[in-house]
Amino acid sequence: MSSIEIIKIVVIKTLITVVLFVFFVMALRYYGYDLIIQIEEIQQDNVTIVYDGIVKIDRQLVDELNKIYNDEKPNEYVVCLEGGVNLKGEIIITDFYKPTIVEATETEVIYKSCNVGSIGTLHSHPDGICELSRQDIYTFGATKQLLTCVQCREDVFGCFTPTSLDKRLKVIIE
Ligand SMILES: [Zn+2]
Repeated sequence: MSSIEIIKIVVIKTLITVVLFVFFVMALRYYGYDLIIQIEEIQQDNVTIVYDGIVKIDRQLVDELNKIYNDEKPNEYVVCLEGGVNLKGEIIITDFYKPTIVEATETEVIYKSCNVGSIGTLHSHPDGICELSRQDIYTFGATKQLLTCVQCREDVFGCFTPTSLDKRLKVIIE
């Protein structure tokens, strides 16, 4: 075998390895951890999702929420949450936006409902209580949304789903 033939074989083998590796990574991403099921799909297909009790939110989003929390104090603020659920059953918050506010006071905030496809809402409790009030539970039940969260301090959130109204989900800021 000439040295040129050996080089050819080495190059081809390397190429095949690289291509297989790329496919492997793409398959992992597709079937695995990065896939987020959009909330519209969940609502349309009536998919039952088993949540593992974890909510993930970006550090940058939390910084923005902290600013709104402090700016609005002593009044409450409310934002609509966007995101979905990944295949590990974790709820991922990917963005938020402010709904049209009708009235905001120290104990409640009245707003126009979020867009279809919103994952839920987040509002603040400037009094520092991270649990849902009776009114919160009533409002949340009426919306049929996936998630409701309360911000009660900087970096501190109480998040709940319809099946865990009395037990806070674990919120991971990453
Ligand atoms: Zn509340």
